[in-house]
Amino acid sequence: MPEPVTVTRFAPSPTGYLHVGNLRTALMNWMIARKAGGTFILRLDDTDPERSRGEYADAIREDMEWLGLTWDREERQSARLDRYMAAADRMRGDGRLYEAFETPGELDLKRKKQLNMGRPPVYDRAALSLSEQEKDRLRDERGGHWRFKLDQSRIEWTDGVLGPLSIDAASVSDPVLIRGDGQVLYTLASVVDDTDMGVTHVVRGSDHVTNTATQIQIMSALGHDHPSFAHHSLLTGPQGEPLSKRLGTLSLRDLRAAGIEPMALLSMMARLGSGQAVDLRATPEELAAEFDLSAFGAAPTRFDVADLTPLTGNYLQSLPLSAVEDDIAALGVPAELRERFWSVVRDNISTRAEMADWWALMTKGAEPMIDAEDRPFVAEALDLLPDPPFADTTWSDWTGRVKDATGRKGKMLFMPLRHAMTGRRNGPDMGDLMPLLQRKPRI
Ligand code: GLU
Repeated sequence: MPEPVTVTRFAPSPTGYLHVGNLRTALMNWMIARKAGGTFILRLDDTDPERSRGEYADAIREDMEWLGLTWDREERQSARLDRYMAAADRMRGDGRLYEAFETPGELDLKRKKQLNMGRPPVYDRAALSLSEQEKDRLRDERGGHWRFKLDQSRIEWTDGVLGPLSIDAASVSDPVLIRGDGQVLYTLASVVDDTDMGVTHVVRGSDHVTNTATQIQIMSALGHDHPSFAHHSLLTGPQGEPLSKRLGTLSLRDLRAAGIEPMALLSMMARLGSGQAVDLRATPEELAAEFDLSAFGAAPTRFDVADLTPLTGNYLQSLPLSAVEDDIAALGVPAELRERFWSVVRDNISTRAEMADWWALMTKGAEPMIDAEDRPFVAEALDLLPDPPFADTTWSDWTGRVKDATGRKGKMLFMPLRHAMTGRRNGPDMGDLMPLLQRKPRI
């Protein structure tokens, strides 16, 4: 039999912006599909009409496009409610979906009692012993929700990251699939979608392991095999602290606004937690070609947002002028100066935005940085500097003259002049920089 085509999906809920944790899931699923020449689906899990918003869906697409993670198909759960209802009807007919009526408060009380008695807080299936009359009464009184009746056996699968797993269904509450107000919940929608869409591999965070166990049973109740499942570890901060506290600052849009380059972010996320060193790659496709899910481990993965800045700098240094020429042109750098501008600036920026600072320095002049004891020296030196435009030889001619006039040499000669001309302690080779400087500093 031919191998089935690989189909993966990324299924964010459009209830907020994507963050680095989502990105890891998205990227892994994208890489699996691309490496296998398969299909990658962007699925918006938007069955919650109150929390799902069009603007978040737009933001998700925009972030994915920014990263270059292309999708072959887009699906929205809100457009597939009839499919979920059909699956629910089938399970009702088979006695696998039952109506229950406990309020959240009642469920909470039951859980507390169970915990007090040292028992696991698993739903006691009280609803299964209600008479039809009682159900009618409760339905009128408060409305009912629908639970899937788990078969209380062990659920086993070989996880793509965690290895062989076995979960006792008796230790899990029968999952609610449809709420009292008729809203289809994630578990049902996800199962129906994954089977309808022929999803072959599901990679998601390890917070979904129990969901996976119940989903395997629901899939089987609907007459389907299940895809391969893999659960990657969750990200923590650099000290192992939960990342969720800081999610606000780790949305993909915030990273983009901070100037982080997509390839720096993707190169890091493709390797973090795999034991393989993070290596910059030029395209997401290169990352996909090298991707190996089995290298990833179960241990929480430490993520330090600060690592993205040097990686972005390294990425930028690797770029030819053509890759940044639009940005450079947008600053107003004339065509004939762009090659030089980029070669001078590339090693001295960690984000694209910093190019603007250099261009401002070149066109408007720097705020000179002069130590008090160097002031007479710098003043004397600037008198010896001709007015711009400066040439390739300006720096060596000028410093030669200053040396003759003042007797200074080495660092004592060059450093104060660099500080005066650039207002910075470090920067590009001054000989290369001088022809770009369009103003003589005034002190
Ligand atoms: N919408 C779910 C989430 O974001 C999808 C989980 C899954 O991949 O099945 O957690």
